[in-house]
Amino acid sequence: MIEDRTEPLTGGPAEAPEPRFVAGHPVLDLVNTAVWRSDGTRAAELVPDAAAWARWAAAAGLTPATAADVPALLRLRDALGATLDAAAAGVEPPPLACETLHDAFVSARAHAALPPALPLRWAPTSLPDELALLAEELLGDTQKLSRVRRCEGRGCGWFFLDRSRNGARRWCSSGDCGNRDRARRHYARKRGGPDQASH
Ligand SMILES: [Zn+2]
Repeated sequence: MIEDRTEPLTGGPAEAPEPRFVAGHPVLDLVNTAVWRSDGTRAAELVPDAAAWARWAAAAGLTPATAADVPALLRLRDALGATLDAAAAGVEPPPLACETLHDAFVSARAHAALPPALPLRWAPTSLPDELALLAEELLGDTQKLSRVRRCEGRGCGWFFLDRSRNGARRWCSSGDCGNRDRARRHYARKRGGPDQASH
């Protein structure tokens, strides 16, 4: 087997992780705040604390995050991750994840304002509520759902909205997982062995 010795997506261990937005949709970027989410041995938090969530929300152009939001953000993120993993596997979402989503959607609407202007739009007052409303919209949109992909990089597990014309985007980022795959193919060829590319 070819060892993958490249650094995690977040860079070297000494670097403070920076927010990353490769998904093309804030809800998928939320799911991607878990790094190496398909690899239990390397899974890590890209947004490790309340200050980092505040930076993440600002960089994403969303409602500011407070320390009190973090548990709800993580609950929503993990339920969305489980739901999208199920979709990628072609199975129904786990009931517990759906229950969490149900509660998040209902709570978001209960707290949101509905300004008297047409077209009517919910005006969420917190980051978890804003993301819950965006998630409800995304998961209810067949056309968008058909463009949601999980990165094919080994262990990566990041999601993105494939906006390419031919709908054939395979990697969260051609510079990360795409490069790793190219390197793996290259070394496999050099060793004369079978193509070791993932999948
Ligand atoms: Zn990836």
